[in-house]
Amino acid sequence: MENIIQFVYIASAALFILSLKWMSEIKTSRWGNWAGTAGMALAIVATLLKPEIHGYLWIAIGIVIGASIGTPMAMLMPMTAVPQRTALSHAFGALAAGIVGSTEYFLHGTNLSMPQLIVLCIEVLLGFLTFTGSLLAFGKLQEIIPTRPILYPGRNLVSLSVFAFSLFLIAYLVIKGGSHPFLFGLIVCLSLLFGILLVLPIGGADMPTVISILNAYAGLSSSFMGFLLNNKLLIIAGALDGSSGLILSIQMCKAMNRSFTNVLFGGVGQVLEVADPSRDGKIVKSLSPKEASILFEAAKKVVIVPGYGMAAAQAQHVVKELTDVLENRNIEVKFAIHPVAGRMPGHMNVLLAEADVPYDKLVEMEEINPLFPETDIVLVVGANDITNPAARKNPGSPLYGMPILDVDKAKQILFIKRSMSTGFAGIDNDLFYSPKTIMLFGDAKKVLNELLISINSN
Ligand code: NAP
Repeated sequence: MENIIQFVYIASAALFILSLKWMSEIKTSRWGNWAGTAGMALAIVATLLKPEIHGYLWIAIGIVIGASIGTPMAMLMPMTAVPQRTALSHAFGALAAGIVGSTEYFLHGTNLSMPQLIVLCIEVLLGFLTFTGSLLAFGKLQEIIPTRPILYPGRNLVSLSVFAFSLFLIAYLVIKGGSHPFLFGLIVCLSLLFGILLVLPIGGADMPTVISILNAYAGLSSSFMGFLLNNKLLIIAGALDGSSGLILSIQMCKAMNRSFTNVLFGGVGQVLEVADPSRDGKIVKSLSPKEASILFEAAKKVVIVPGYGMAAAQAQHVVKELTDVLENRNIEVKFAIHPVAGRMPGHMNVLLAEADVPYDKLVEMEEINPLFPETDIVLVVGANDITNPAARKNPGSPLYGMPILDVDKAKQILFIKRSMSTGFAGIDNDLFYSPKTIMLFGDAKKVLNELLISINSN
């Protein structure tokens, strides 16, 4: 039996690796999802067949409780709430790792060798800090608690002291050996507290990056659990989870031109500058959707740039309807996808897929940028920072260095947004005052609907 279990574990590990590979491309992402699910199902079945398992009653109770929380979460939470859903999943996964580690300590703590105790303590530390950190991230994203960074003087010192004290206690426990339930309980409490302190000073808009970092911690914790339980699949799955979480966080920070430390300690997102249209005598041109619809009569190539405002307005379906109408008029339509458009990686891809926009119309930033000079109209739907030319031109701007969509190079730019307000970064966008730009003020869904009706009646 053990040989069969090990064989199934190898198959699961291969499926997990394939899953990550396939998920990295839109075309194969559904396959990736299936491969991951199949890998996990095989891993669970193989583990349940292990001879060490003597009774299934508690396992069945656990499965029923887990499924009754997970199923409604997957079915009822909307696509826009995926970051919150991910945060909750991490919280539960990390709690499981923390509980398994604690149980091992209380059952076999006195028999564990020094390296085993080190691994156990690190697993517990990472598991419990990820649990509270992820719960707090969920609360911020769901706006159950204030999304702004909660800052107080000396916060970094307090957080680092709590972390250092936990490490000190771990070192003491490992060197002393034997059973120390009180000290162990204190390590658990400090880990829970550290998770809260870690996430409290970070703004709601940075939560997707934080969740990705917490994902890496949860993966590492599971990997350590694998060493402890001598389960090779857990080691592999945890390492894959940990490294992919870390790579994703690095990519997100790069695409935002932010450093890791800036996200974790920066307190970004507190004060947002509101753009002033009268500033320096700059002129803003705006039209009604009906007036703007005439511009499409002469257009041959249109690029749509979706951003956070499209998600907020849930305008993806009307964007798809507009695409169909334009294509029926022999206008070529493409979508320009920026890696950090919206508030989570792949945010725009998910929403546009939900609206059945074919994936071959979604063009990544590097490929679409050379096409802007020959584009007649760029229709920016609730995007802002990802189009801001200050990222290319203004070394003093916090956005400087962030790769952007070169929307300013198109022949005509239409911006759909409700006001002159700034986006996530809180920076004014010079493109609003460009002679090539026309603002269409209003909620994205409403403006697009009016635009659609007007184009249809022209
Ligand atoms: P953005 O810069 O935040 O701009 C979104 C714009 O949408 C706002 O200026 C807002 O202007 C408009 N808007 C909001 N609700 C709207 C509605 N109902 N109808 C029409 N417009 C609406 O968004 P972005 O251009 O997508 O850029 C993403 C930003 O988020 C970047 O700075 C990125 O670094 C950051 N970020 C991304 C991720 C990620 O993983 N994707 C993670 C963390 C941070 P009005 O208020 O005037 O309408």
